[in-house]
Amino acid sequence: MDLPVFKYNPNALELGIIEEDETHCPVCEKKRNYVYRGSFYSEEEVEGICPWCIADGSAAAKFDG
Ligand SMILES: [Zn+2]
Repeated sequence: MDLPVFKYNPNALELGIIEEDETHCPVCEKKRNYVYRGSFYSEEEVEGICPWCIADGSAAAKFDG
């Protein structure tokens, strides 16, 4: 499973925006081995979003972030 490419943060893993950690993503509802730690603006408290949902925009679409 390859990590998605972040256009503006190609070194997201090194920068700590993505961490290797087990999560159950609330967007795609899949178990992932990486979790997104960057800022995510939403009225709801959302945690454990996987980097794939951030990269493809589905997290923003679901939580209006
Ligand atoms: Zn996800």
